[in-house]
Amino acid sequence: MDCKLLLNKSIIFAVLLLAASQNALAREITAKRGDAFLVSAQSAKITGEAWAEFGERVFPLRKTEDGAAGIAAVERETVAGPKELVIYGGSRQKPVKIEELTVRVEDRKFPEQRLKVDESKVTLSKEDLERALREKEIISKAIGLRSREEIDLAEWAKPLEGVESSPYGLDRYYNGKKGSFHSGIDIASPSGTPVKAASKGRVALTGDFFYTGNTVFVDHGYGVITAYFHMSAISVKDGEEVMRGQEVGKVGSTGRSTGAHLHWSLYVSGVKADPNSIFDINAIR
Ligand SMILES: [Zn+2]
Repeated sequence: MDCKLLLNKSIIFAVLLLAASQNALAREITAKRGDAFLVSAQSAKITGEAWAEFGERVFPLRKTEDGAAGIAAVERETVAGPKELVIYGGSRQKPVKIEELTVRVEDRKFPEQRLKVDESKVTLSKEDLERALREKEIISKAIGLRSREEIDLAEWAKPLEGVESSPYGLDRYYNGKKGSFHSGIDIASPSGTPVKAASKGRVALTGDFFYTGNTVFVDHGYGVITAYFHMSAISVKDGEEVMRGQEVGKVGSTGRSTGAHLHWSLYVSGVKADPNSIFDINAIR
């Protein structure tokens, strides 16, 4: 046998062996389109910062006793199938790859919903359009926060009890005109019912906005933010620390709304995720 052939054969063997050992070790996470999910790694190699890269996004992770953990999410528009997620430690300048995981993204159907609202909330006057654009910028800043508030990864509760009147992800049409998809869940409840913070955090933004009415954004840390829309009253101030279950406002029908309800949103490093998926993280404890 010539030497080159032998070398080739041993290289192929080594590659196969490596592939087999990586397959045996690779961990898998299953999540549906729009789901938030827990990412964790046990590794002594994590020094400095830790983060996960998945899709086009970077999800900061909190250091734990033996590694790092945090919350990541699948964009609603992601095509189902296996996707790679990579956990890094160190610094952005000198990243150290800690682990590669596979996220099995499962498909999910999002139905259409047609709503009738005041036409002035669909075809905006020049003044309203300017206002909406101005507010979009302010809201983007809140959603863009990546603070290091001490997130409670597993401590989540519904902001209020009630019938879920609209699920997450619906393709929405307002007076026949296509709008953006339904980015949270709607919980029907009488006006004035207390709305409670889903977990501990810090109030990042409050305001009366064109589309979302009386609104509160709570920053839970590490890219995780919840929002409470259409309220009749706001009970907290910007920058205030809140505990899980603390009242942030009261149910109402302000902004572009068709009746008294709470719209509750979950943002995970900018991904508009299904708030209900956060409770699966609860179960992992
Ligand atoms: Zn809603």
